[in-house]
Amino acid sequence: MRIVLLGPPGSGKGTIAKIVEELYRVPAITTGDMLRDAAARGTPLGRTAKSYMDRGELVPDDLVISLIKERLSMPDSTNGFVLDGYPRSIRQAEALEEILRSTGNRLDCVLAVELDDDVIVSRLSARRSCPKCGAVYNLINKPPKRQDICDVCGSVLVQREDDRAEVIRRRLEVYREKTRLLVDWYTARGAVKTIRGDLPLGELPAVIRRTLGA
Ligand code: AMP
Repeated sequence: MRIVLLGPPGSGKGTIAKIVEELYRVPAITTGDMLRDAAARGTPLGRTAKSYMDRGELVPDDLVISLIKERLSMPDSTNGFVLDGYPRSIRQAEALEEILRSTGNRLDCVLAVELDDDVIVSRLSARRSCPKCGAVYNLINKPPKRQDICDVCGSVLVQREDDRAEVIRRRLEVYREKTRLLVDWYTARGAVKTIRGDLPLGELPAVIRRTLGA
């Protein structure tokens, strides 16, 4: 299974990626997490990426393309993967085609997650994550058991720098300007299926299976 997840920030791509990972035993590859990790480690790539991420802008294509090239060359992704947050521009999508072509592979499905803007803004504003283990919570529909404390490792939860209201607005604009075009781009190539981003968690595995038809 080689799958790309498309959809606005906060539409639930991360949750769907984790479920696909478990159902089909393929790695979920999340460029946002990879970039945040590089930023936390203070690498040159991380420092550059952070300056874009904090403003809600896309990290330049060349940087992200080399990151994904390296990741997809690792042994765990040779038999499949689910990409969460990549591609985000036509150039990135073309680069992915090229990488797949060079290994004689192709995408099995592009899953486009759909959710209204007002739900996205309230979801992202309520999102909290654990800086240590990466667990993600939502104060409205998935709160931690103890306020502000990670259920998994006990660290104090934080709000992502780019989940502040003004940055959320910019991220949505960037999605509309650059990433949404990919739904049409992939539709023209025939591989797009849609899924709603507001389904109850318990229903997701069955809906994903049905949608992917496998
Ligand atoms: P996400 O966690 O997917 O919402 O990504 C957070 C931020 O990381 C985005 O707002 C971008 O600044 C950056 N980012 C993640 N993936 C990409 C990508 N494929 N291309 C460019 N920037 C990216």
